Amino acid sequence: MSTPPEFLPFALPDTGEEEIAEVTAAIRSGWVTTGPRTKRFEEEFAQFLGDPSLHCMAVNSATAGLHLALEALGIGPGDEVITTTHTFTATAEVVRYLGADVVLVDADPATLCIDVRKIEAAISPRTKAIIPVHYAGLAADMPALLALASAHGLKVVEDAAHALPTTCQGQLIGTLQSEATVFSFYANKTMTTGEGGMVVTRNPELAARIKTMRLHGINRDAFDRFRSRTPAWYYEVVAPGFKYNLTDIAAAMGSAQLAKLPRFLARRQHLASRYKDGLSSLPLVLPVDAPPDDVHAWHLYVIRLDPSARLTRDDLIQELSDRGIGTSVHYVPLHRQPYWRDRYGLRPEMFPCSESAYQSMVSIPLFTAMRDSDQDRVIHALHEILD
Ligand SMILES: *Cc1c(COP(=O)(O)O)cnc(C)c1O
Repeated sequence: MSTPPEFLPFALPDTGEEEIAEVTAAIRSGWVTTGPRTKRFEEEFAQFLGDPSLHCMAVNSATAGLHLALEALGIGPGDEVITTTHTFTATAEVVRYLGADVVLVDADPATLCIDVRKIEAAISPRTKAIIPVHYAGLAADMPALLALASAHGLKVVEDAAHALPTTCQGQLIGTLQSEATVFSFYANKTMTTGEGGMVVTRNPELAARIKTMRLHGINRDAFDRFRSRTPAWYYEVVAPGFKYNLTDIAAAMGSAQLAKLPRFLARRQHLASRYKDGLSSLPLVLPVDAPPDDVHAWHLYVIRLDPSARLTRDDLIQELSDRGIGTSVHYVPLHRQPYWRDRYGLRPEMFPCSESAYQSMVSIPLFTAMRDSDQDRVIHALHEILD
């Protein structure tokens, strides 16, 4: 029997000596929790977005950031928040943390982002906000979504966990006219701090509330306490806040990763275009590109089996696994998850686009540390299975 091929995972972080050096320096400095490196990381992030009027606030996850943004907007019991069924549960769970209710909308059949044409029918007198997700790294239809939100007086919080960096009509996600945008630095995202996130807003009152609530409802953070001229021991608690601050150890890693982001993007774009060339003759629906002059972050490469393919999604995953290739499915839609399904009485036929995508979709390996030869193995395997 031949030896099984080396296992190719579906995603891996890309870290090196730069991250090790930065993290080591943070530890040696003696300041390991939120402090100077977190502040520097926030400044670098604002520079990356290229807009000095933005407030960038580092947090310990995107989930925490979404929770803080909605809390600062005053979302609470009796309110409704609209989002897409085709997402990770974190997008929706934060609405429930605040006692508000989630209204799920189907995905657009081409982009798998929220179908903006289906949002209006989901708006009720209780609706307060919309959370679009830039699925896989492609911007949702933000011009239409922002216009609709403004016509109905609704707030927009962007779940940009996949969208670093993504542009929409030439503008970076994070700089649009929404209330807040939240990025994720989870291990498999386009850059990572292990766990972490960034909330971005141009609204100073929102920023002030988020800064207070990310650290116990204390009106200044620990770092400021030890710098300013009022006594270091004195602080005021103005609300029952959360423990959502990012550590300097994580921020140190973030700085090193952010410096590599342009190279990471170029690598992801290269891999996405090689997949497009290598897979175009197969019975697959390949992901749509960003419009000309826009950037797709290519966080995920999601293929869908064409109805003419003679095997199921589960068979395809098994065949790839037999060849040592890791895959994932993004996502089991929320309307199929027991909690969401049962709380809101959801049925698959209410979400035909998300449902049919879910039945046929597989996320194949796409990460910056993979070699072209690793990718060739995936392309070759798909030809073997599908030709
Ligand atoms: C990863 C992810 C999140 C959560 O990010 P964390 O940083 O792990 O909290 C939220 N929404 C989407 C769409 C994600 O992919």
